[in-house]
Amino acid sequence: MDIAEARALHDKTPVIDLHADTAKLMDRLGYDIAARHRPPVLRRLSYAGHVDLPRLQDGGVSAQVFGMWTVPYPQTGCAASVHRQLDALRRAAAENPGQLRRALTARDIRESHDEGRLAALSGIEGAQALEGDLDNIAAFARRGVRFIGLLHFTKNQLGSPAMGVRGKGGGLTDFGRDAVCEMNRAGVIVDLAHIDRDGFMDAVAISSDPVMVTHTGASGAHRHWRNVDDDQLRAVARKGGCAGVIFAPRFLGGEGIEAVCDHIVHILEVAGEDTPALGSDFDGFVRPARGLEDVSKLPALTAALGARGVPPRILEKIVGENALRVIGDVPPRLAEAGG
Ligand SMILES: [Zn+2]
Repeated sequence: MDIAEARALHDKTPVIDLHADTAKLMDRLGYDIAARHRPPVLRRLSYAGHVDLPRLQDGGVSAQVFGMWTVPYPQTGCAASVHRQLDALRRAAAENPGQLRRALTARDIRESHDEGRLAALSGIEGAQALEGDLDNIAAFARRGVRFIGLLHFTKNQLGSPAMGVRGKGGGLTDFGRDAVCEMNRAGVIVDLAHIDRDGFMDAVAISSDPVMVTHTGASGAHRHWRNVDDDQLRAVARKGGCAGVIFAPRFLGGEGIEAVCDHIVHILEVAGEDTPALGSDFDGFVRPARGLEDVSKLPALTAALGARGVPPRILEKIVGENALRVIGDVPPRLAEAGG
């Protein structure tokens, strides 16, 4: 499969990236998502500026999940920061109605794909944004938040982050357990990127809905504290969930696009064809893999997977249908139009 064939496959099936941090840039730096940006000439400086509407179009991406992240030092003001990022995304949709729409459901995404507009979905990275109040889950859900990542880089009220120290975290707190149940009630997808292994397994056991790991590597392909192991992947698969593979060499163990393929193929092998998905972490202040310098390059990844013998039917699942299935299986139960 060459790049043109891969790009044609993207026209046929909705392509979904499960994690980019662009909303923070829009909120804090006035980053204009409608304008075409050039990636930095020096690759070592390429920590952000990977995503905008023209390059999403080039890459044939139909839906982008925007992760709203917060700086938890101290853990106050995090909810307000998420609301500001949601506002920034809403403004961008209002200013660019022909290119961008806010989306909640699998059906919204399929419609956006047919219309040639980007479906923008909202997620939260790090449940310190709940500020210890379960009612904030419903409040965020009503504003259209579809994903909440329980942890980010620091310990919060729900549990402990993955940091490579085994047996130290102790799993979810009581508040963390209650939060998972409340997310199920609200129809917010439980995102298990960044959480320690005990908390991960607790959340899978508690959740009544499928779960996601929106951006991760597989430690079976490259051992790293940030990555999830084969048992974790199989647990996600048994739950009907999916795992988006991150594009960051620091977690993949290789600099190029083939490293991304290694992790996707590993997930295919250990957890089955219904599990792998895409979770770039573009604009997340991690340098992307060579050959995937920005979102416009995404067809190169599809082509590289095709060259490894992954058939088009499974490529469609990896680039979008698996994520779409989980989004469809966890419908928003509180979200109101216009949030
Ligand atoms: Zn992250």
